[in-house]
Amino acid sequence: MREDWYLVRPDAIYVWSSETVKRKLSWYMRVMLGREPPKFMIARSYGTGVEKRSFSEMSLTELLRVHESVSREFRELMKQIMRSGGGWEHVKEELSEASLLDLKIEIMHRLVKECSLCEHRCGVDRRERKGVCRVGYYPRVSSYFLHLGEEAPLVPSGTIFYTGCNFRCVFCQNYDISQVDIESGIEVDARELARIQEELAESGARNINHVGGEPTPNMHVIVESMKYLGKPVPQLWNSNMYMTSMALDVLRDLIDIWLPDFKYGNNECALRLSAAKNYFDVVTRNLSVVCGSGDPIIIRHLVLPNHLDCCTEPVLKWVASHCRNALVNIMDQYRPMFWVLRSSRRYRDIARRPYRSEIMRAYNIADELGLDYKEIS
Ligand code: SF4
Repeated sequence: MREDWYLVRPDAIYVWSSETVKRKLSWYMRVMLGREPPKFMIARSYGTGVEKRSFSEMSLTELLRVHESVSREFRELMKQIMRSGGGWEHVKEELSEASLLDLKIEIMHRLVKECSLCEHRCGVDRRERKGVCRVGYYPRVSSYFLHLGEEAPLVPSGTIFYTGCNFRCVFCQNYDISQVDIESGIEVDARELARIQEELAESGARNINHVGGEPTPNMHVIVESMKYLGKPVPQLWNSNMYMTSMALDVLRDLIDIWLPDFKYGNNECALRLSAAKNYFDVVTRNLSVVCGSGDPIIIRHLVLPNHLDCCTEPVLKWVASHCRNALVNIMDQYRPMFWVLRSSRRYRDIARRPYRSEIMRAYNIADELGLDYKEIS
């Protein structure tokens, strides 16, 4: 990594002088500074009262029942740690029984046997077949590096780009790895993925940024990688948030900071431009869970031209009413790409960059709603 990265992104240093950023990203900041362990390390030390070898005799329903009761206690503990500190006291080297992380790994691997990681609910056995996302059983990593272009509090971000996606955004900026060349990159198992994360952490990553494409189809291996990960680095979920409630429920205890993409303010635009059914209902359902947990969250909203009334305004209004603890990144960098260029008549509404007046209107809406966006947009 270039040692003078702060010359390229000095805002990654001075953003931490903002009291709003410190307050809203408090847990992430403390983990990043090593004052607290990442959640996966606490979950890895948290007993379930069940022996690991019993898992094979238990049905998915039984596993979920145990998970529900153990994770409820775990969340209470995490609330206390987030409030008063002391997380390192709960990190143990050895555990005689199965840990909460072991249980989550088992459940994840059951979910991909009839895949229901996301709301496409393909039901395929991912060991043999692929679903809508066209992702195999093991993730393919297209690239990984220290990203200097993310939001200031995240830089330098240890970003891992997985190929494949469960969306079909017609304007995707990463269409090569998400929709076209999804067999590119290298296939990784959980141990190799942990090694990649350790390499990024050793190079100075402030977090591990799971992105794509989309990380959700790879969730089972990402969660398993946390079993082998030896570095106390915060885990960041950079996602379209189209996972099922069950997948989110298993994942959420392991993520230190969320970076969701919230593009559309209704189901129709999402269906037409990303081939995602019930988008608004699913994403707001999942965001409600994350926002309600009090976890650090930065919500990204990409301003699409001609979509201020149908998307930008409802998205920002929803955030203002349901997720006051979020920082918001109002993104102005949209430009026509991929299918929008190939079929500019069909996608006439988004076949140009947003006007400055549209970006200013997005900022005005955010100002009127009292959203915290200026620190990072
Ligand atoms: S992750 Fe989603 S799109 Fe991919 S196979 Fe599973 S349910 Fe289908």
